[in-house]
Amino acid sequence: MEISHFGERFSARTGIQELMDDLGSALSSGDKSYMLGGGNPALIPEISRIWRERMKDILAAEGDFDRMLGYYDSPQGKGEFLVAMAALLRENYGWEVSERNIAVTNGSQNAFFFFLNMFSGSTRGGRRRRILFPLVPEYIGYADQSAEEGSFVSNLPLIRETGDHEFKYFIDFDSLQVSHDIGAICVSRPTNPTGNVLTDAEITHLSELAAEHNIPLLIDNAYGTPFPHIIFEEVVPIWNEHVVMSMSLSKIGLPALRTGIVVARKEIVQAISSANAVMNLAIGGVGQALTLPLVRSGEILRLSREVVMPFYRQKSRQAIEWLHQALGNEVDYRIHRSEGSLFLWIWFKNLPIPTKELYRRLKRRSVFIIPGEYFFYGLSAPWEHREECIRLSYAQSDEVVREGIEIIADEVRSLIM
Ligand code: PLP
Repeated sequence: MEISHFGERFSARTGIQELMDDLGSALSSGDKSYMLGGGNPALIPEISRIWRERMKDILAAEGDFDRMLGYYDSPQGKGEFLVAMAALLRENYGWEVSERNIAVTNGSQNAFFFFLNMFSGSTRGGRRRRILFPLVPEYIGYADQSAEEGSFVSNLPLIRETGDHEFKYFIDFDSLQVSHDIGAICVSRPTNPTGNVLTDAEITHLSELAAEHNIPLLIDNAYGTPFPHIIFEEVVPIWNEHVVMSMSLSKIGLPALRTGIVVARKEIVQAISSANAVMNLAIGGVGQALTLPLVRSGEILRLSREVVMPFYRQKSRQAIEWLHQALGNEVDYRIHRSEGSLFLWIWFKNLPIPTKELYRRLKRRSVFIIPGEYFFYGLSAPWEHREECIRLSYAQSDEVVREGIEIIADEVRSLIM
């Protein structure tokens, strides 16, 4: 059968798909394995209890359950959810937004598929536009989303060694060029895979660049504030007419409900509503129904700050301590400063093999991580740093994380001794 260029692009096997297949077969084998590769959030007992109680309330209230399941919602999302979300953002951050600035999507992945293609590719005027990632490594989930090849361009970061065995990436504004073909700038904050949180100054600078070039700044806030608030630094979240802010209910423990939330200027909200209608007809309403009272009361903020964030901060600190103990002083390594998200990003300087090979060796020992190079797309030249890093999730149980780290350290030590 002959398929289209579009069909080819989205049905091609990608490196990340192979990794996901590995994870899937390890899970189904039933053997003990250490799943430090995926991006699944943890099941936090206090949070899971709240979702169960909410579901019971919905079942008990006459009509609520039937309404939740029995109707197509508007492609922009449930009206009452949009109103409550706008009020939450206005009251807590002073953003000048109304329900006309909010759209719900079937997960933020779905929103990015639309935005990355809306702002890149061929235009009616015959121009070719691209997305600028001002700092890679960046989220692996964007890497294969553009319908036209060559639509992404990325900038290498500045690396600052910020402490013993610690480093942090910064945007290299001196080398960052917003050329005439750039259709949007895109960042995740906190960043998957590194746990980096771009500083307020960096975000303000990017927002100014976006305004100057009259293009949007896409900020992927899947781990950020106001929820799930897996962010260990105090930052000021900004929004203005040039910012497209994307949020998600996934990392607060509801990934299966596929609910993303976009905050943007009205024309962009209208555009994504139209795309929702074409691609999905309507948006899944269960996530919106489940969280509506918590959004209305602001309880979702309290839970995020008082339960979700401390849970992950503790797990991050603990995993870093285990890494230091296991790697000791013999291994030349640095961990990216852990400022948010569910990941640690470890840089093994001068590793004698690429981390793709380290991945294969660890897989034989049932430990799954993600090798660094998948996170560096859109680059025009090779860079050896990308073969020296791995991403590790610390959202799994303490036992799995600790034993997994010990096996990683043992493998790395065996390579350099
Ligand atoms: N953006 C980032 C940075 C992520 O890490 C993820 C999921 O891992 C997503 C977006 C996708 O989230 P969702 O479940 O809302 O589609």
